[in-house]
Amino acid sequence: MSQLAGQLQLKAVATLARSAARKRTLDIIQSPVLKKLSWLFHGFSTRANGGLGFVPHETREGVQQNRRQYLTALGAPANLVTLRQIHSDVIHVITSPPAEPLAGDGLITNVPGLALGILTADCFPVLLADSRNRAVGVFHAGWRGTVARIAEKGLGLMRREFGARPEDVYAAIGPGIQQCCYEVGEEVKSKFNSQFAYAGELFREIKDSNPVREKYPLLFMNMRAPGHGDLCVKLHLDLQDANRRQLLSLGIKSSRIFASSECTSCNVQRFFSHRAEKGKTGRMMAVIGIKESGARKSDEASRG
Ligand SMILES: [Zn+2]
Repeated sequence: MSQLAGQLQLKAVATLARSAARKRTLDIIQSPVLKKLSWLFHGFSTRANGGLGFVPHETREGVQQNRRQYLTALGAPANLVTLRQIHSDVIHVITSPPAEPLAGDGLITNVPGLALGILTADCFPVLLADSRNRAVGVFHAGWRGTVARIAEKGLGLMRREFGARPEDVYAAIGPGIQQCCYEVGEEVKSKFNSQFAYAGELFREIKDSNPVREKYPLLFMNMRAPGHGDLCVKLHLDLQDANRRQLLSLGIKSSRIFASSECTSCNVQRFFSHRAEKGKTGRMMAVIGIKESGARKSDEASRG
């Protein structure tokens, strides 16, 4: 190979690497509806953005670097506020970055220049934006938080603090574990039953599929105990729909609710999944905030 050809080849490799790096940073899920609100920034990271939570198998420096790259890609300020998440319904009103991460599962603000972040790897992140008052919130909705009505309480707090009305609110539910993969126990169902009139519609009974059994049913015929079905039935929860219904029941219009259809557990190439990877996985981050330039002008506010 001539020297020139070698150089050209190196150059091509470098260009490919650069475009791969660019692509990597760009794999961020956004709500087309929230994207139209020019005063805010938001996003749901994917595996391509790297691990964004401080978990034992990741280095502190690596996570910090991934966070910087992700926030830059979102056009978000560096003032990131995260929580020590505890599967609760505790929500904090943030006016400046706290010195130490607070314990809780929701953050709301109307102060520009803050990036509010929630970490997930199967649980659903929920974003809310009040277009009239320019206020935002992010919430961590696992099954416990959902039963505790974290999204509903989040909007309630935004109403109390900032005057948010459901008709002015946009919502986005990020990628999480969908019903196809989210098996839960009877105790989860009874908790939902005690809270929501529509709880029955959130659960589906799924027959445990056993390929050998399906292919050779006759082999298993005689193994059936009298009075019992031959297939084990498992309970699957649609946690995303549970959150969507919670938002709808508050009066948020369905056309203003974005819900990512992706399942984290089905697609571990693209997402971190706590279940699919048996606990040893990274964390994705849902972020929302008001741009520094997005402060509401007082004349606009007085016009209402
Ligand atoms: Zn799935």
